Amino acid sequence: MTPTPTPPENPFGTEQIRVGYAVAEDAKNRSYERAVVGALDFWNNRTAGSYDANYTFVSDPDEAQILIRFVDTITYCNGYDNLTVGCAPILTKSDTAVSPETVTIEDDYAVSSTREIIIHELGHTRGLDHENHSEIPAMNATVDTLLIPEQDLENRSYGWNTTDFRVYFDTAGSVSSTEESDYRREIREGWKYWSTETDHLEAQPAFRFVDSKQEANIVVKIDGHEGVRWESWALNTDSDDSLEVYENVTLYVGERNPEYIDYNTALALGYLLLNPENETQLPEPFDGDDEFGKAERWSD
Ligand SMILES: [Zn+2]
Repeated sequence: MTPTPTPPENPFGTEQIRVGYAVAEDAKNRSYERAVVGALDFWNNRTAGSYDANYTFVSDPDEAQILIRFVDTITYCNGYDNLTVGCAPILTKSDTAVSPETVTIEDDYAVSSTREIIIHELGHTRGLDHENHSEIPAMNATVDTLLIPEQDLENRSYGWNTTDFRVYFDTAGSVSSTEESDYRREIREGWKYWSTETDHLEAQPAFRFVDSKQEANIVVKIDGHEGVRWESWALNTDSDDSLEVYENVTLYVGERNPEYIDYNTALALGYLLLNPENETQLPEPFDGDDEFGKAERWSD
């Protein structure tokens, strides 16, 4: 008499539980295999939870019994999980899994953090809740997360996430309407340098005037200084202390030399678009080599 094999007592009814992942269309397109496999290794050495499970990674998401979906943002998680970075069903021994059970994870985090989030969410699929964090620290209601490190602004050859530049000319009523249209023409000349001399840039910027400061990522203001100066605002988009990307900038062009507004605007844009360490890395006439170049090239 042969005993009838009984399926293993887990919601999936198999010895090995196949886990794969898929990347949603709005998610960062990168490989999550290292994080997923790391989390499976973690659980394959432990027995905590409502049932024993052995996980196998499958590269084909269609074969997965647990499918980990990487998404841009999780807004709602079934009323249970307060961790907005991941979401998973709670499954215990007596439950029957659907095919596949889906775990959702946000795409923003570095591999080590992503692995921790997956460990946490897989813990839920084994019936663990946040109370179990003394046994499994990753089950804590908050998991420390590190964002994907991004290239710091100082190391970027192009410091913007956009090539669409919306320019607001802020005259603050200080110039007449005739002067204003002259200035606008000059500013346009200045940015034209960068929209035509694209050999120097790895991106193809486009510029246009807009009617409100709110729409603009470049504001040009006239002030009492000589030449040009600028203030930029940049964002820190990862977990380090450095800034990664320009958000917007205000150029101050001097009212004492209005005929150089074109040159001065173009010079400032050169610094902001090419991110050079110093002027020698700028193309002429901005490279500081030719004192008279600017007068010849830019007078009109
Ligand atoms: Zn949780």
